[in-house]
Amino acid sequence: MTSKTALITGITGQDGSYLAELLLSKGYTVHGVIRRSSGSGLGRIAHLVGDERDEEGRMRLHHGDLSDGARLIALLDRVVPSEIYHLAAQSDVHVSFEQPEYTGAITALGTTRLLEALRITGLPARYYQASSSEMFGATPPPQAEGSPLQPRSPYAVAKAYGYWMARNYRESYALHTVNGIMFNHESPRRGEAFVTRKIARAAARIACGQQRFLDLGNLEARRDWGYAPEYVEAMWRMLQRDRADDYVVATGTSHSVRDFVTFCFEHVGLDWERHVRFDDRYVRPADVAELVGDASKAQRVLGWKPEVFAPELARIMTDAELEAAGRGKGPLPEERE
Ligand code: NDP
Ligand code: GDP
Repeated sequence: MTSKTALITGITGQDGSYLAELLLSKGYTVHGVIRRSSGSGLGRIAHLVGDERDEEGRMRLHHGDLSDGARLIALLDRVVPSEIYHLAAQSDVHVSFEQPEYTGAITALGTTRLLEALRITGLPARYYQASSSEMFGATPPPQAEGSPLQPRSPYAVAKAYGYWMARNYRESYALHTVNGIMFNHESPRRGEAFVTRKIARAAARIACGQQRFLDLGNLEARRDWGYAPEYVEAMWRMLQRDRADDYVVATGTSHSVRDFVTFCFEHVGLDWERHVRFDDRYVRPADVAELVGDASKAQRVLGWKPEVFAPELARIMTDAELEAAGRGKGPLPEERE
């Protein structure tokens, strides 16, 4: 067990919640940055907050926002973390086309604000940057650490900016900054707008008679989908290395959106073609055709390798949605078409 202290931005998100669990299990004191909202917003970490087994109060939350640099400085000053995991972002590619300026202000400049806070406070903390395979964009697969960045969305451009700033602060100020270039990773805690969760949820709800149709955009896009709990383990391993570096984290396999639909619908015994409809509202101005990561460096240096691949991931997610649907209100009598 350790007595280390970690600060996580984005602790209420999919990855933040799994990472908090992992670090608590290793004995860390975990400080999370949360945004003020009208609701609690703590859904994914509710089980960790006020947990009576946490007698020493190793899980602590603080209000803060990536738009507020002064607050980030004050937080680092107060928490004095030994590890910082910067996961917070406007992380939705589709939304980034609708709100490119906001995405830049948070996903790109929010990173600069946090890096500046680290530089100004002078803490010897190690820093993890949540970089994304979306940065590779138009670069054909397989994509590895040295592949060119050709981002194809405002989100991807903002992530490329954050990636380079993390490297720049490593080179300019000798800060211990690490880029995890993560390919898509999913789980039952994935945001509902992302395609895997949307598909798994719809398959389960259709099987339970609570929904009839699933509206999707581009079915041909191919992604390298892994399992989020395994990916947060890779984040932690990266920060345990004495040398700051960049790592691709991926399964090395790709499947189309159509494949993922097939996996989920077959799992509940349904013919997807009777339920899936095309809706151009979900088509993006530009899309990334195929992502397949080469994670051989992570395997070699970190000893990390994936265990869960897309077909099993689809089953895990659909089973979780079946359970949630079972707890729901039951079939809708008349669903609007
Ligand atoms: P989520 O969208 O689930 O979580 C995003 C987190 O950022 C939430 O906690 C959210 O808070 C927080 N956040 C958003 N805006 C702000 C802000 N202005 N100030 C403070 N906090 C903010 O993302 P994931 O967990 O899936 O991903 C984690 C990180 O990894 C993100 O940076 C994402 O872009 C990146 N990434 C993810 C991949 C994936 O496949 N999941 C792949 C590659 C990179 P709130 O709950 O209040 O909204
Ligand atoms: P991304 O890879 O980070 O953009 O993750 P998403 O899960 O949002 O999208 C993965 C792929 O699914 C992209 O190529 C989308 O164009 C495609 N896709 C097709 N239909 C949909 C949909 O209804 N919602 C989303 N989110 N993506 C869709």
